[in-house]
Amino acid sequence: MGQTRRTWGRRTLAATIAVTLAVVAAPPAAQASPGSISSWALRQLVTANGVMKHLKELQRIADRHGGSRASGSPGYDASVDYAERVFRRAGYRTSRQAFDFQTFLINSPSELERTAPAPAGPLPHRIMSYSGSVDATAPVTLPTGDPQGCAAGDFGPANVGTIVLISRGACPFGQKGRNAAAAGAAAAVVYNNTTGDLAGTLGNDYTLDFGVVGITQALGQELAAQVDDGLTLRLHTDTYRGQARTENLFAESRWGDPDNVVMAGAHLDSVAEGPGINDNGTGSAAILEIADKMRWFPTRNKVRFALWGAEEANLVGSTRYIADLPQAERDRIALYLNFDMVGSPNYVRFVYDGDNSAFPPGTGSAAGPPGSGAIEKLFHDYFASQRLDSAETPFSGRSDYGPFIAPGVDIPAGGLFTGAEGIKTPEQAAVYGGTAGVSYDPCYHQACDTIDNVSKKAVGEMSDAIAHAIITYAWDTRSLSTPPAGPTGGTTAPAGEGGGLHDHEVEI
Ligand SMILES: [Zn+2]
Repeated sequence: MGQTRRTWGRRTLAATIAVTLAVVAAPPAAQASPGSISSWALRQLVTANGVMKHLKELQRIADRHGGSRASGSPGYDASVDYAERVFRRAGYRTSRQAFDFQTFLINSPSELERTAPAPAGPLPHRIMSYSGSVDATAPVTLPTGDPQGCAAGDFGPANVGTIVLISRGACPFGQKGRNAAAAGAAAAVVYNNTTGDLAGTLGNDYTLDFGVVGITQALGQELAAQVDDGLTLRLHTDTYRGQARTENLFAESRWGDPDNVVMAGAHLDSVAEGPGINDNGTGSAAILEIADKMRWFPTRNKVRFALWGAEEANLVGSTRYIADLPQAERDRIALYLNFDMVGSPNYVRFVYDGDNSAFPPGTGSAAGPPGSGAIEKLFHDYFASQRLDSAETPFSGRSDYGPFIAPGVDIPAGGLFTGAEGIKTPEQAAVYGGTAGVSYDPCYHQACDTIDNVSKKAVGEMSDAIAHAIITYAWDTRSLSTPPAGPTGGTTAPAGEGGGLHDHEVEI
């Protein structure tokens, strides 16, 4: 009890300072506004330690539930319960939106090993999401036709009963798997056609009982060269797929204009492979910390926080939310801010390229709805005000803002990202620190995405930037309708091809 009272006292003091600054203090300069004063005050209250406290709780939840927080698993449900308690204690009105989807869970870690010729032993690989279960020891063959295996005719009688080694490229992984399975193969191993690990997904509509894993290009070439020498592999995958119920969680401020809602969100689910602390415990924890501290700021606009389910199953939760939202409700949303991975250990401060100024047509990204460029500029301007560099990353729709910016929905959106499986360049390392030639997040979508896989410095810088954006718009969204004056770009070069945003590599 005493402890509770002391905590309350400290918070009351913090609130008094915040409210005093936001309301009483006379604007010292022409540009001072409720938004800018509140931004400063909120950023004093939002701390990296506060975000880390939520991350530690998400790690504990994963530890108690088999090491994963994937939607459809008890680890996800416990994450929702925890987040709802945080929101409720801070005074928000919470709600849940339940939906069914095809889940993918891993019962036990997959195994790939070479049984002949020497050297026999385990081989590094990544299971593809939605892979079926298999336990096969079999000779290895290449597709009898095109090595990419995109056509049924690329497989022949020679592939029957074998583990087929297929090249990435030209078609979705699910198509390669279906073709190999239809031809009577025992399993498939897909090798990359570029550098880096291959962590693909077969798609949440893949239900074949046929195992598929990914390996690097170098290992693929090594194995292909051994096919004529009697190469045999053992592949064991043990997975669960099936209809599961999961939820989105929402928390809404009790004050503010309900016709001008500022939305900010993050996906709360992890992949099946691990606890998902950087992806996306960090975005979720930043939202929780900011919501907790924003309880003291009765802003002009209504604020709605969203924690999405089943993002990793292809944006299922956010897609369902938008699909079920009547047009009149969509019209009330002024903007949506998305935060997916904001604590990458080898990080760069990426801002979504809302006006597509940095990426040429045909790279999979496009300019967002009007207002998205203004959001991008707000983030870059904030970082510049803190003497922090920032760069741009493709506005590709590959996270939960995708359904918001879809044609016909057209809600302005923006957000931040500190990098996933892409490789940090020497130029980026010179500006942002960290290690060139290594992924921004070497544990992306793996069991090692734990509390030790988070940069506290990144979390601190990003949560301040997120707090600034949310409270700025919570006071005033008029800048969204003014085309940004001057360039909207970052201060350093945009993400290269390797800066791919949270890419599930579903296509090719
Ligand atoms: Zn993510």
